Amino acid sequence: MLERVLQEIRAHRRFVVTSHARPDGDGIGSALALGQILRVMDKDAEVVMYDGVPRIYQNLPFANRVIQASTVPANDAVILLECDSTRRAMLEGLEECFLINIDHHASGRNFAHINWIDSSVMATAELVFRLARLACVPVDRDIATCLYTALMTDTGSFMFEGTDEHTFTVARELVLAGADPAHCARPIYFGHSTAKLRLLGAALSNLHREGPLAWIWVTQEQMTRFGAREEDCEGLVNYALSIADVQVAIFFRELADRRFRISLRSKGEVNVSTVAEFFGGGGHKCASGCSIDGPLAVAVSRMVDRLRPETAVLNAN
Ligand code: 5GP
Repeated sequence: MLERVLQEIRAHRRFVVTSHARPDGDGIGSALALGQILRVMDKDAEVVMYDGVPRIYQNLPFANRVIQASTVPANDAVILLECDSTRRAMLEGLEECFLINIDHHASGRNFAHINWIDSSVMATAELVFRLARLACVPVDRDIATCLYTALMTDTGSFMFEGTDEHTFTVARELVLAGADPAHCARPIYFGHSTAKLRLLGAALSNLHREGPLAWIWVTQEQMTRFGAREEDCEGLVNYALSIADVQVAIFFRELADRRFRISLRSKGEVNVSTVAEFFGGGGHKCASGCSIDGPLAVAVSRMVDRLRPETAVLNAN
């Protein structure tokens, strides 16, 4: 399928590259790198993100060229990274475009004209890296920095299940190409806003436990009070997962329409992707997400009720 994707890239001229709304490190890093790879291939390429670039990724190479928009600009083809549908990218007009889908989620779907889904890799960045190689585009320091940041964040700093010697081989190649691990890590792990830390305090004061399950939440009112943005919620769920005997952590974020955005994280014993898919979302075995109607008590009980049988098996073992 990689060859097919490259064939389509060669056949078209004007590209839009995008990823899902609220892009994470892999969505942003892979899109920035792919945009540049296309330009090196003499293509017109715009990276367009519905939510723009989150603050912690704004120092990445090419981040200042990203267009924040709700409608897809004129193009010959759109490459969607990390999306299981056009809906995830939130850009209006995608349905009328020629679509290429590159994804590494097990819950990935063949929604585009060309679909390259490989769930054996830890990050979409690795697929973009392969594409650059096959296209004979030299991976310079800037491209390597974007791809390394994507790989580092999607592997949870090389800590998530599935990280193996191959992951480190890819990381090594990116470092050899010029990515500086400490420089890439600094804005992500030591670049938080004060609002995020205040939000973390509020979320942790709402910590609930039930055996191997832990959950936290933040409300719209707290977000407003602390001046926090959506992106300040990234990663808060990991603090609940960091408790010794917790296997699954859940983070609930109240949305403006009173629905709840949910992040699920697992240490590996429970597949949270199937749980997210049950509620119309998706993701990976150890990291997934979905949305559920409020109010909070209803959202919590629906999610906890769905997860309880999965973790009951753990209690029995
Ligand atoms: P997060 O909890 O950080 O928002 O998402 C964790 C993982 O689940 C990411 O890989 C993300 O792409 C995926 N994910 C989150 N929400 C959704 C969703 O609503 N649909 C799908 N298909 N994947 C999701």
